[in-house]
Amino acid sequence: MSYQDDEEGVPFDGTTGSFPKNFGYGPYDGDHDIISSSGDQKPRILLMGLRRSGKSSIQKVVFHKMSPNETLFLGSTNKIVKDDINNSSFVQFQIWDFPGQIDFFDSSFDYDTIFGGCGALIFVIDAQDDYIEALNKLNLTVTKAYKINQNIRFEVFIHKVDGLGDDFKMESQRDIHQRAADDLTDSGYDQIHLSFHLTSIYDHSIFEAFSKVVQKLIPQLPALENLLNILNTNSAIEKSFLFDVVSKIYIATDSTPVDMQSYELCCDMIDVVIDLSSIYGIKEEQDSAAFDEISSSLIKLNNGTILYLREVNKFLALVCILREDNFVSKGIIDYNFLCFRKAIQQVFELRNKNNSSPVANVIEGSPVVNGTNIAGEELS
Ligand code: GDP
Repeated sequence: MSYQDDEEGVPFDGTTGSFPKNFGYGPYDGDHDIISSSGDQKPRILLMGLRRSGKSSIQKVVFHKMSPNETLFLGSTNKIVKDDINNSSFVQFQIWDFPGQIDFFDSSFDYDTIFGGCGALIFVIDAQDDYIEALNKLNLTVTKAYKINQNIRFEVFIHKVDGLGDDFKMESQRDIHQRAADDLTDSGYDQIHLSFHLTSIYDHSIFEAFSKVVQKLIPQLPALENLLNILNTNSAIEKSFLFDVVSKIYIATDSTPVDMQSYELCCDMIDVVIDLSSIYGIKEEQDSAAFDEISSSLIKLNNGTILYLREVNKFLALVCILREDNFVSKGIIDYNFLCFRKAIQQVFELRNKNNSSPVANVIEGSPVVNGTNIAGEELS
């Protein structure tokens, strides 16, 4: 299954536009693409683990919209797969899917290249299988990688937890955590920090875990969080997520805690919007999708809650959850959203210019509270 993006290869310039016509990423187009338009190295995510641990499935489900059941028919990986996810300037990374049976500590592997430019290393452990061998490999991989690059973030996905009961899940996580930490201490690397995530491709946990991993690689995250906080406070929004639409990874959210149910609702909303847009929206003669910068989507739930989606730029969308009573001031919410979108574009522009000045200082236009903006100016 392949998904192609009509505008593949065009670096995102921070402007708004419509989602790619077929809501997909472009194919990987070679090593030269590792250097982004701004000249900086793209953060690279390495996906590793034993054979059949679920690496290819994760990659296909999260980034290529494969349905979990289809992964049953995936062939085994026997080469390094470089999957370039070049969807926006915030999320640019590669997944290197290592077949588990390859001994990459073989001297023919160029460790410096593999680990040198790597932002995060995800190690997938099959929780439904005996994990002792996986833990040995984890220890070997992590220590080797750490010697080369001390800035790598190590993420362990305790995967396929869908088949496990709650007690067993927690027990496995505790046991794997403990053993991995003991192994690191024994090999003299107790300074290495491992983060653990319970994941499955059959629910939203894999998207949530990937969101966490990707967020750690976004240097602008505090600025984005801050913008979302400001938007929420001034628009009576309870929760908002900035989504990468194609993968349903949220690249930022406000600082209130994320509850899985809200995240799942927002993911489902994106699916609904994309499905409706691709069924009814795309006309053959048009280049872009029907869902563009002036589009929005609103879903009213029967518990008095509203889900409100607006397109932020070609690949990102804002999804907000708010009380129906607070949606009476939709004009203010929309105005605040425009300020927010402008600010996000400025974050992109700053990044593209490789400018290190603080983002918050250059944001034009303040969100509005009750007809005046936060600087106290009356709205005309
Ligand atoms: P790889 O060799 O690490 O790339 O593993 P694959 O992606 O080929 O997956 C091996 C098998 O595990 C496939 O049959 C998948 O359907 C299955 N699998 C992957 N992820 C999950 C999961 O979250 N839960 C369950 N139950 N099975 C999974």
